[in-house]
Amino acid sequence: MTTGVGSTEPEKSGGADLRGAGAGSWEPVIGLEIHVQLKTETKMFCRCRNGFGGEPNSQTCPVCLAFPGALPVPNRRAIEETIKLGLALDCTIAERAVFHRKNYFYPDNPKAYQISQYDEPLCARGHLDVPTEHGVTRIGITRAHLEEDAAKNVHVAASGRIHGATATLVDFNRCGTPLVEIVTEPDIHDAETAKRFLQLLRQTVVELELSDAELEHGSMRFDVNVSVRPAGSDELRTRTELKNMNSFSFAAKGIEREIARQIRIYEDGGVVEQETLHFDPAHEESPPLRSKEEAQDYRYFPEPDLVPVEPGKDLVDRLRATLQVLPGARITRIAETLSFYDADVLVTGGLDRLWTSLVDAGADPKEAANVLANQFVAAGIDPGTVDAGELAKLVSARAEIPRAAFDEALAKVGERGFSADPYLEQKVVADTAELDPIIQRIIDANPAQAEQYRSGKEGLLGFFVGRVMKETGGSADPRVVNERVRALL
Ligand code: ADP
Ligand code: MG
Ligand code: ZN
Repeated sequence: MTTGVGSTEPEKSGGADLRGAGAGSWEPVIGLEIHVQLKTETKMFCRCRNGFGGEPNSQTCPVCLAFPGALPVPNRRAIEETIKLGLALDCTIAERAVFHRKNYFYPDNPKAYQISQYDEPLCARGHLDVPTEHGVTRIGITRAHLEEDAAKNVHVAASGRIHGATATLVDFNRCGTPLVEIVTEPDIHDAETAKRFLQLLRQTVVELELSDAELEHGSMRFDVNVSVRPAGSDELRTRTELKNMNSFSFAAKGIEREIARQIRIYEDGGVVEQETLHFDPAHEESPPLRSKEEAQDYRYFPEPDLVPVEPGKDLVDRLRATLQVLPGARITRIAETLSFYDADVLVTGGLDRLWTSLVDAGADPKEAANVLANQFVAAGIDPGTVDAGELAKLVSARAEIPRAAFDEALAKVGERGFSADPYLEQKVVADTAELDPIIQRIIDANPAQAEQYRSGKEGLLGFFVGRVMKETGGSADPRVVNERVRALL
């Protein structure tokens, strides 16, 4: 595969409809803002439990409900995990990071400010290398900072949506839980790369065990900023923001539609308005009730109740030492042996470590990948429970043992003390001397079907093959059975 790390070549759009008059003459520009909820035991500035799904308002205290006089105490673990993520994204870790108050008034925000970070975030100026079919694309990370989440507004109406709601309830369990915000540079130029970036970032935080990053629970949320510009120019034109989309494919679709819409506007001689857009009503979050603020509207100022965070070199080194090889690097490495697609499936499926062990144990790389991505996943086995040596034997013998034996073995491969040997002794029966009498017997026992087949009802071939496979307990070679049934009929 080619590698184009840090390439400055303008990229072609992955999927947006750029055909027509302006084909190839527009370059999409995309930047992402991602929020990830940390799965710490307790909240960011108090000792309330940080957990999804509790009885509403059962996980609250004077600090996260903003009672007068209650003071915040930062969660050390949350700070460490943010630094870890920053290191994974090759960011510079601040020697001094500051919490700021971001002031705004909203029912989900009892203090009327959110403790966030502003011009001195914990992590800045990093990147994530995203493997794609066409090589590696480096996406700049502007910053990754730590803040507290807001409460959750629940709009009560038949539709569950804010329009037509008759009441809004507030659940403060989420209020004050630790949230990391990651902001990318506007370095992405097609929807597919945006989607891959998001998937890879998700995989990274899950492997670092920082967050469940479950889109459907909102523990990972993202906003997408999109603009287009004439290809070859480096201006940044007016962007629109697609808010809180909750699936990666939905994000990709939204981006493609937005790119096409902006191109149409420019080609018709219009101007793109800066606005926030919601694409699919079925996946819509609350539309904004407040218009987009400028930074000065938030009246950011340093949080007077917290001292600056000064992560020492020792701490940063200790956290750096805990980092394993990250998923992006593993995809790139495996794609040297398999296709990008296979490498991606293995790594994003959490199967690549087992795959490496299978290959080390002598299994064919492609065969091993196929078995893992298909039958193994279908059987729902935890890769951590598997003896790679035994599974490698099965993979290598797949063509020689009956399908039924293979499936049965695979279902048990995660059991303690599993041995592949008894299954390897079963061989597929491809010997016509052994199969012909069985086939003949079945034909003789079903004269009516045989007659219909001969008079043109070819579909009945499957009926006979099925009978033979059943009769042989699935041990016959289906290809040979097909051939012989046809011949004997
Ligand atoms: P805000 O403070 O309004 O959220 P930021 O400057 O923090 O704005 O940028 C937010 C995101 O928008 C970043 O990911 C950035 O890369 C992206 N972005 C900024 N300008 C553009 C643009 N012209 N086109 C596309 N994305 C952009
Ligand atoms: Mg922003
Ligand atoms: Zn609390």
